[in-house]
Amino acid sequence: MRAWVIRGTGGVEHLELAEVPDPGPLRAREVRVALRAAALNHLDLFVLQGLPHEYRFPHVVGADGAGVVDAVGPEVQTVRPGDHVMINPGIPDYTCDYCRAGEHSLCRNYGILGEHLPGTIAPYVVVPEQNLAIIPTLPTSLRWAEAAAFSLVTLTAWRMVVTRAQLAAGETVLIWGIGGGVALAALRIAKLKGARVIVTSSSDAKLAEARRHGADATLNHRTQKVSQEVRALTEQRGANVVIDDVGEATWDESLRSLGRGGRLVTCGHDGQRRRVRSDCAPARHR
Ligand SMILES: [Zn+2]
Repeated sequence: MRAWVIRGTGGVEHLELAEVPDPGPLRAREVRVALRAAALNHLDLFVLQGLPHEYRFPHVVGADGAGVVDAVGPEVQTVRPGDHVMINPGIPDYTCDYCRAGEHSLCRNYGILGEHLPGTIAPYVVVPEQNLAIIPTLPTSLRWAEAAAFSLVTLTAWRMVVTRAQLAAGETVLIWGIGGGVALAALRIAKLKGARVIVTSSSDAKLAEARRHGADATLNHRTQKVSQEVRALTEQRGANVVIDDVGEATWDESLRSLGRGGRLVTCGHDGQRRRVRSDCAPARHR
């Protein structure tokens, strides 16, 4: 099959359309998906630049995708050939102690499509059946591009806002960098939860767009002192939750913005808290 691959890292100049082997025979619970759309994330740029793990070249890129089930392994029960599916690109082994405890994103052998594993910018990708969801058809069916663009950032944001931070109705949440995919998904989820949402950006145009998506207050972190403004917006109480996927540069201001009993959630960092990616999969949240 012909897929977009890299044979080295450093930048987009390494991308090429090349012939690669078709996926091999399916294991018991694996599914081959014929892709109809793939979506890009900042993660893809980090992959092109080079991440600190071993690549097997030629490496097929792309984390997000949606398509039609093309073939299934002998024990697959949840999908059938012809089903329209969206893909969760975070692939655990489903066997380690973390997986058995239901913490798949902390899996000892965790991999992300297009980062650690062959990606979605190809005619076919193979994933465990647990990583597929039938594309909802009610009230209206998602378009292929919408279904493809959903998973990576939305599942990451869901784990941050709901699973880890347990944001509740009536609470105030601060979200850094609203131009990013994780931040934008976090905004939408926080509003659905009934929270009051303060977002930041260095771009006034992005802040205006965020207000159209429901942000209650917006701060330009280039021209405003975020922690002071958050205090002013919360009668000096501070935010209940901070969603910070930036890391070191915003750490102090995030802590200063938090109220008593507040929760700070981050993502996309390795064990040394170095930034390894900004659009991470639903994984490794502290
Ligand atoms: Zn595992």
